[in-house]
Amino acid sequence: MTLNVTIWNEYRHETSREDVRKVYPDGLHGPIADHLRSEGMTVRVATLDEPEHGLTEAALADTDVLTWWGHLAHYEVSDEIVARVQQRVLDGMGLIVLHSGHHSKIFRSLMGTTCNLIWREADERERIWVVEPGHPIAAGLGSYFEIPREEMYGERFDIPAPDTLVFVSWFQGGEVFRSGCCYQRGLGKIFYFRPGHEMYPTYYQKEVLQVIANAVKWAAPAGAPAVMFGNRPPLEKF
Ligand code: ZN
Repeated sequence: MTLNVTIWNEYRHETSREDVRKVYPDGLHGPIADHLRSEGMTVRVATLDEPEHGLTEAALADTDVLTWWGHLAHYEVSDEIVARVQQRVLDGMGLIVLHSGHHSKIFRSLMGTTCNLIWREADERERIWVVEPGHPIAAGLGSYFEIPREEMYGERFDIPAPDTLVFVSWFQGGEVFRSGCCYQRGLGKIFYFRPGHEMYPTYYQKEVLQVIANAVKWAAPAGAPAVMFGNRPPLEKF
């Protein structure tokens, strides 16, 4: 079965800042879309400024896994669309939240916490440790990989304890961070993955792309039967 992936990108930094456009001439979504297509997935890109942010009922109904990158304009995402995405997650759509998406309305409403964290922009090396090596999202990685320059995110990260923690990051300045977090909400699987500051070429790095592709496969709907609620007659005579 071919996976249908929608890559959602705010797409404001790349269109308003020359320095970011230099790093991502095709948008932050460009290299991610290319990689997922090379893995045989069907990929659609949706951006904030499209009607309904590109997340119409029909588009979401046809999406197995949605990835989300936002930063400048979380507050411009309409509450109605957030509610629609949340319902799709509860019904089984996978959601991959990237980097500054930690503060998106959709992630905060699914987590129920502030999702605040510590940050610093200082060209630091990030070392991402695989703390759950048997997990499908870590497939193909060694015991760790490094990103030469990234923004630092540090603890405390105000999230609920993940169902499974797959990655922990260390930064040159000394902080650590829970950088690969798995959750289930309703029938839907959610993965938060930390790297991806817009000033660095992180989304061209092969390990990062591998993790995103692994996460999309992991979060794909499991094909659960329709769920029934409410009163029902007993299965046995008694
Ligand atoms: Zn950032």
